[in-house]
Amino acid sequence: MRGRELRGELDAFLAETEQDLVAFRRDLHMHPELAFAEYRTTQKIAERLTAAGLVPSVLPRGTGLICDVGSGDGPTVALRADIDALALQDEKDVAYHSTVPGSCHACGHDVHTAILLGTSLFLAQQADAGLLPGRVRLIFQPAEELPGGALEVMAHGGISGVDRIFGLHCDPRVDVGQVGLKAGPITSACDKLVIRVSGPGGHTARPHLTADLVFALAKILTELPAALSRRVDPRSSLSLVWGKVEAGSAANAIPDDGVAEGTVRCLDENAWHAAPDLIKSLLESVAGAYGVEARMEYTRGVPPVVNDEVSVEMLAEAAERVLGASSVVTTQQSLGGEDFAWYLESIPGAFARLGTRADVTYDIHQGTFDVDERAIGMGVRLMAATALTALWEGSRPSLIDPISGALA
Ligand SMILES: [Zn+2]
Ligand SMILES: [Zn+2]
Repeated sequence: MRGRELRGELDAFLAETEQDLVAFRRDLHMHPELAFAEYRTTQKIAERLTAAGLVPSVLPRGTGLICDVGSGDGPTVALRADIDALALQDEKDVAYHSTVPGSCHACGHDVHTAILLGTSLFLAQQADAGLLPGRVRLIFQPAEELPGGALEVMAHGGISGVDRIFGLHCDPRVDVGQVGLKAGPITSACDKLVIRVSGPGGHTARPHLTADLVFALAKILTELPAALSRRVDPRSSLSLVWGKVEAGSAANAIPDDGVAEGTVRCLDENAWHAAPDLIKSLLESVAGAYGVEARMEYTRGVPPVVNDEVSVEMLAEAAERVLGASSVVTTQQSLGGEDFAWYLESIPGAFARLGTRADVTYDIHQGTFDVDERAIGMGVRLMAATALTALWEGSRPSLIDPISGALA
């Protein structure tokens, strides 16, 4: 069985390349590039793919690239890694510390990139040996953090002709060697909300003659999240949390304007669609009660990532094959957002959480975030085996039950 040989082939491949992939990750870590500015990163990936005999196609903006491995009549499976860094100070005391002030790979996208590069090199070897029963589309996606890179990839045909897509993300709460999986929604919608209030302003001695703007703003800050919790199905976990508030400049003057900014996160697609209108009507009623004017700017972010059941089974089968029988753990839906969701609105696929827990658990989006680098080899095993599993299953359609869609 090819499945049994695969583990040994991956062991042999990684014995030769794992250190090099770790070095590749550390180089990216030292040179982080923000969304849609990943020129050096793109060039480094392209160089490595070209050296392996592949033909990468850089996206028109010059950041991010797409590359096909294999050919033939079989199905096409896409693997996606995001390549951008965060605008955040690196606070780690390590030799591969970021060399760019205010820029850091604090979401682990350098790890995702190194994993997909390793997977690409392994799959290229498989293709050369005539062992790839279809095509694998490698997507090195820019600007996940913006978000928007997924839309850029799709606008340039990145998933046209693709039957199924897989991606993964570092998860510092899961041990190295384990993979967190879940069918159905796994991340959340995340939108941005800005509320601007205005009024006549005046002396704090006479709030009754003007509109007490700071008091009204405080009411909006507390009443909106409270009212939402009573107007929306609690199972949707719609949550409005403020991150920034500004108003006033003196202790004895009522200001004439103020602003509050926050995010709206939601597990459920229906509640997500209804959120802007509901928040607007609640805002108008609270602001109206205190005589201030309120305007809302609501910016739609990403929808939830909704994992397809068959694709999750393929990930699980692959993980058990190359990482061991107890490598799969169930994971929870998080309130984080992830732009992989946009691919899954068009084609089936699944997103996995790759265990990267280091000695101390530092969360992502922190200047202290780092991974146990053994996760890179684990990720290569998982991605390569998943692509091959999906190609094997996809080229034998009788294995998928046409009614339930489940693997037979
Ligand atoms: Zn992130
Ligand atoms: Zn991320």
